[in-house]
Amino acid sequence: METKWYEDGLKMIEEMTTNAEQIQDELLRGILRRNAGTEYLRRFLHGQADKQLFKKNVPIVSYEDLKPYIDRIANGETTDILLAEPITGFFMSSGTSGGQPKLTPVTADVTKKNGLFRNLFESPVMKQFGDINEAGKRMEFMFARPEIETPSGLKATSVTTSIYKGSGFRAMLPKLYTSTVETIFCPETQQSLYCQLLFGLIQRDEVVMIGSTFASTLLRAIKFLENHWQEMCSDIKTGQISHRITDSGCRNAASSILKPNPVLADLIENICNCKSWEGMITKLWPKAKYVSCVCTGVMKQYTAELEFYCAGLPLVSALYASSEAHCGVNLEPLCKPSDASYTFLPNMAYYEFLPVRNDGDKSIETNSNNEDPEPVDLVNVKPGHCYELLVTTSTGFYRYKVGDVLMVTGFHNKAPQFQFVERQNVILSVDQEKTSEADLFKAVTEAKAVLDPIGLILSEYTSYVDTSSAPGHYVLYWELKEKEGKPDPKTMVECCFRMEESLHYTYKIYRKNNIIASLEIRVVKQGSFEALMDYYVSKGASFSQYKRPSCIKSKEALKILDSRVTGKFFSPKSPL
Ligand code: AMP
Repeated sequence: METKWYEDGLKMIEEMTTNAEQIQDELLRGILRRNAGTEYLRRFLHGQADKQLFKKNVPIVSYEDLKPYIDRIANGETTDILLAEPITGFFMSSGTSGGQPKLTPVTADVTKKNGLFRNLFESPVMKQFGDINEAGKRMEFMFARPEIETPSGLKATSVTTSIYKGSGFRAMLPKLYTSTVETIFCPETQQSLYCQLLFGLIQRDEVVMIGSTFASTLLRAIKFLENHWQEMCSDIKTGQISHRITDSGCRNAASSILKPNPVLADLIENICNCKSWEGMITKLWPKAKYVSCVCTGVMKQYTAELEFYCAGLPLVSALYASSEAHCGVNLEPLCKPSDASYTFLPNMAYYEFLPVRNDGDKSIETNSNNEDPEPVDLVNVKPGHCYELLVTTSTGFYRYKVGDVLMVTGFHNKAPQFQFVERQNVILSVDQEKTSEADLFKAVTEAKAVLDPIGLILSEYTSYVDTSSAPGHYVLYWELKEKEGKPDPKTMVECCFRMEESLHYTYKIYRKNNIIASLEIRVVKQGSFEALMDYYVSKGASFSQYKRPSCIKSKEALKILDSRVTGKFFSPKSPL
């Protein structure tokens, strides 16, 4: 029988995970040998490429520590101040999960490695569903972001945009995807989305997979369809694209795909024209085998609503990756999104793990002498323990804090598997208490259970600390979707109280002592979080990599939400 490429991928994953320790050591040796002479590493290693010296002397850093070097390269200095290999450009991270966009140097080697990773991460998925490349097309929502030219003349762009620009991707696009280059690169996101949905509807019989990088984008696409399907059906009926599409690239692409097809238009109209959109994805794309998008971390909140539209279709969170390093693949793609674990591939970066306590106080663990603990190597992490991820790469990141906290759930051969716990740096704090993203998510989950029986779905939430009056208090913005009921004051006040009850001990003590005032939920109009996303995208965030912040600091972003508030509710009493 012919060996499929994904079977080779699975074999490669087996080999790599079995030899994780050797691969990690060789990778570090290679990085140090090539980069020990850079201005940055010379300060710590004095030209030597020794692992022990690396662990002893090279400091653990965050982006701010490397930024002066990266900025110098972006401004035209030679790359060897930080890394030995010549660079081809920069990746820009989304920057909405922890502050400003960051620049990551890109080399030819990393581009090749990331390509290999992308092929590998699909292998476990294909093992479950067969070769989807053979079976049909993917309706994946993809949005390129404009490139920025640095003073050095090098270009900076998002990881996803760099993929879309690749010649290999472009060559396979027409065969494997329903979207076209013109729609992916359309600078108007709404027009791009409209066309990508329209093209997906026209090719509905071929679609075997539906997806986007992150769950939020997919959900936004489905909601957009809910508001625009009539217009799209009219386009399909007449074979003429709507006047709302003014982008010439999109119009040209539409002219070669769109032909008058009243039968298809009527069919789609009949499906869409119903009261409940439950299961709509399966109805519109009956051959779809699964939905692919990251549903873990901050994306967890979208799972319930996506499941509503998918009605039983598996939601696959396939990979864990960042602009700095692509790290892990989900070897059990059919698991529940809440159980998704990522097996780290040892060839992608040299990983270290800084232990953090897993007891609600997410400070770094200390050992019995009250000293900071040493980071541990990939193969030495312990199941059930939480760690902050550090990466060392050939692109100038040495012992670099990615900013994510991960928990070990098990091992595949010698390679550990991790669940995403939280971003390390997203917290609410009025006084000494620290509320992490995971704490907040847990409290929101407890509170929203109150909504289920009355037919309300929490679609989006975010938070901020209001210290404009003393004592300060937590404010939650909630966007609700009405399946049946409407939010009534009694229910919302109960939600406020449930949230407070579910927050950690320190929070409750502070509440009892009036160091923190009553928690507030501000219900916002539907579409408010889309306006928030539009705002961040207008400020340079990538549409495909956008992650709704769990906590908002920007005054302008807060103004957008505050102008859409329809009701304010407060917790009636202290939770203790
Ligand atoms: P960016 O560099 O903009 O691509 O963002 C990378 C960040 O996205 C990571 O550091 C994580 O915080 C988050 N992320 C990526 N993949 C996942 C995943 N599978 N689950 C949860 N969060 C993720």
